[in-house]
Amino acid sequence: MEHHFGRYHPDMEAMHHGFQTQPCFICRMVEGDVWFPENIVYEDDRVLVFLDGYPRAYGYTLVAPKEHREQVIGDFTVDEYLDLQRLVYRVSEAVREEVGAERMYLYTFGSNQGNAHVHWHVVPLPPSVPYEEQQGAWASWSMGVLEIPQQEMASLAARIGWRI
Ligand SMILES: [Zn+2]
Repeated sequence: MEHHFGRYHPDMEAMHHGFQTQPCFICRMVEGDVWFPENIVYEDDRVLVFLDGYPRAYGYTLVAPKEHREQVIGDFTVDEYLDLQRLVYRVSEAVREEVGAERMYLYTFGSNQGNAHVHWHVVPLPPSVPYEEQQGAWASWSMGVLEIPQQEMASLAARIGWRI
């Protein structure tokens, strides 16, 4: 599937200011404070899966435990960690199949000073991205964010969700 969306550069300063001054955005989502509930791909009693509101790729999906945990390894037992990874596996395959990715990138960032709640990035690399724009470059904000209409985001979330 071929998509041609424009890109824009969000106000990163405002975004990071929000991360550092507002309550955890993932905990807020878990509590039902969600701007776009239709962007939720999947949820159960332990995890929330949703499309990133600032997608740098078509199908850019985040997987988070519902409980507020900050250390990506140390705040989980081995079993809890592996349970989460089982879901990351399912989500990654669902995204890969839905958008026809050439390769999948999985990573987790976060900061103890803001954006602390553990979340995994499940990021498709579409075919034909030049070599120089792959890997770390594909994860960066420098190329901007895709302007995906909200109706398309909702449809994409549903289509990925059906595959999980
Ligand atoms: Zn949280």
